[in-house]
Amino acid sequence: MTRPFNFSPGPAVLPDEVLQQAASEMLDWHGSGMSVMEMSHRGKEFISIAEQAEADLREILAIPANYKVLFMQGGAIAENAIVPMNLSRGGRADYVVTGSWSVKSAKEARKYCEVHVSATNEADHHTTLPAYGSWKLSDNAAYVHVCSNETIHGVEMHELPDLAALGSKAPLVIDASSHICSRTVDWSRVGLAYAGAQKNIGPSGLTLVIVREDLIGHALPITPSAFDYKIVADNGSMYNTPPTYPWYLAGLVFQWIKRQREGDLTGLAAIEARNITKAKLLYDYIDASGFYVNKVAANCRSRMNVPFFLPKDELNDAFLAGAKAAGLVQLKGHKSVGGMRASIYNPMPVAGVQALVAYMKDFAASHG
Ligand SMILES: *Cc1c(COP(=O)(O)O)cnc(C)c1O
Repeated sequence: MTRPFNFSPGPAVLPDEVLQQAASEMLDWHGSGMSVMEMSHRGKEFISIAEQAEADLREILAIPANYKVLFMQGGAIAENAIVPMNLSRGGRADYVVTGSWSVKSAKEARKYCEVHVSATNEADHHTTLPAYGSWKLSDNAAYVHVCSNETIHGVEMHELPDLAALGSKAPLVIDASSHICSRTVDWSRVGLAYAGAQKNIGPSGLTLVIVREDLIGHALPITPSAFDYKIVADNGSMYNTPPTYPWYLAGLVFQWIKRQREGDLTGLAAIEARNITKAKLLYDYIDASGFYVNKVAANCRSRMNVPFFLPKDELNDAFLAGAKAAGLVQLKGHKSVGGMRASIYNPMPVAGVQALVAYMKDFAASHG
């Protein structure tokens, strides 16, 4: 069966190979006579799945040994509360606002700590990245929060800020939901990264938290036990029953990432090279088209989420219907932004973006 190219922002496309492997293992995982869904999370079978997934993720992202990897639930939106509960110590935290997701993060954090907005691109309708040197960082912030890839507005930090160089002693917290595992991470600049799995890692229901050990163990007394990083870490993410099936599927995706090849490159390097190629193909065409427009500043255009507009909104329905007929699905933009959005996560092949560009050319020629 050939499937259409799926540009969903999330839950999003998964590699065919991964879904086929999961299907073949559905009733009987490795001769155990059980589906992964039917196993005790404390049994040796699932423990081996869980440990392999963590080891593979650590290898892919080169996560230093002094960081814990937590497999949690609640999605990135729950982390908007869990992060201040664990890190703020009830004091002050700096937030940088670059799009809808960081707006939401800052709003939620106000329930638990004093939020200082250090920079915002609101005046530019979330199409720019405030220059790092312009950020008004507090002397006493417990952490600085950013969304390193704004899924809705398509604004990505291609280089993470070096807070120490900007005069802040605070750890950087990144919501990396929609670009985790799409590129390498400079851990020397990151104290904590969190990501819902359903964009670039696996099914919804799993949230990854990668956190430097010294930031663990300072939760507010009101913190629910299942969301206290120390309790989660001390119990190997099994204080409560973890989302075992999404954890397993994420593990299959990590193995898929490790198998990728692109010229001399392997694993995440191959994935990143392919992501750069895909994004360039699409942005170059949009800019040259004289028909479609992407409004994001060139230095912060997301490699993962590409919002674009047609010359008239009246053309949107025809564009989407034609796209569907051409085997290109889930291209409708977020309702707050309008227009279209192509999410081109890791499993989207270059051929998928080529097919999209070919369709966009045809559509522009017949509607220009
Ligand atoms: C999708 C997304 C969220 C929300 O994730 P949930 O799983 O719905 O909680 C938060 N932040 C970013 C950057 C996202 O892309």
